[in-house]
Amino acid sequence: MLTEVSFASIRRSPLSKATLAALLMAGALVQTGCSTHHTSLQSDDTQSHSDVFDKSWLHVVKGNMPLVISAPHGGMIKPDNIADRECGTQERDDNTDHLALEIEKAFETYGQKPYLVIAKISRAKIDLNRDLETATCGNQKMAYTWHQYHQDIEAALDDAISQFGYAMYIDLHGQSHKVRRLELGYSLRSPALKANYEATVTPQTVEKTSVENILQHSNDLSLKTLLTGEYAFGTLMAEAGFPSVPSQQDPYPLADQRYFTGGYNTRRYTSSDYPNVFGMQIESNFFGVRNSQQNQTQFSEAFAKVINDYLQYINQHVDWKNTQ
Ligand SMILES: [Zn+2]
Repeated sequence: MLTEVSFASIRRSPLSKATLAALLMAGALVQTGCSTHHTSLQSDDTQSHSDVFDKSWLHVVKGNMPLVISAPHGGMIKPDNIADRECGTQERDDNTDHLALEIEKAFETYGQKPYLVIAKISRAKIDLNRDLETATCGNQKMAYTWHQYHQDIEAALDDAISQFGYAMYIDLHGQSHKVRRLELGYSLRSPALKANYEATVTPQTVEKTSVENILQHSNDLSLKTLLTGEYAFGTLMAEAGFPSVPSQQDPYPLADQRYFTGGYNTRRYTSSDYPNVFGMQIESNFFGVRNSQQNQTQFSEAFAKVINDYLQYINQHVDWKNTQ
């Protein structure tokens, strides 16, 4: 059953116009994730302006640790009364919804539970890794779903920060590029990753990264250490059997290799508007990670261990109390 919701009751995004403009501009310039299609905004004056939402469209789990995972592109629910999107891509990130639940299960070993916000609604109806206009292609009926999704992520981040002082945010996706590896999107394009690894640029000239808030509150961590050092997330995942870029083993994508830098969600929730949050977009490969129950379980077990090792390392080097 679908519920009609008042548009006026929606909590608005806290993004300033300037921030939103910057995000839109960044989105236009970089290959952000799961799609390289261009989008065009459309509006249809004949559309109803009342929003439609069903709570089964989003699966939300309240966690007990400083990790928030969103999975926007794995949903399969396609309500007949919602028109398919007519801009951007409708491609599903196969099994990423299930993978997020496997990750939840893997953390049980440690008595931990990550916060989860999983889209069950199909990307054909709404793209929950885009700004509102592009997410809905101008279909006003879907605006409430977009706001609800982000409200759920913000509530999870707020809750984690109130308990732990910080939150790691991961936007979980799936890619089908030629090289089988995790593409860790730190909001940096391949040339910036290469330049950072080769240390030919100063930190001031490096593009804004999704671990910026760590750098703001650590005296001894560098971007190079965070992305390709011994305890970088990618390095630890590669050691656990899941090749990753960037990492010590594979520091940056080569010029002819496709690579996703991180999209709207990653940029938004690791921006200076959320000073106690850092994170990345993870674009997982299909074969070896998502293609079977066994691989999903193995990946999730490795992921849970690596997250704990990684967060321990981060906490040894960051003083979150000095924020705000
Ligand atoms: Zn995706």
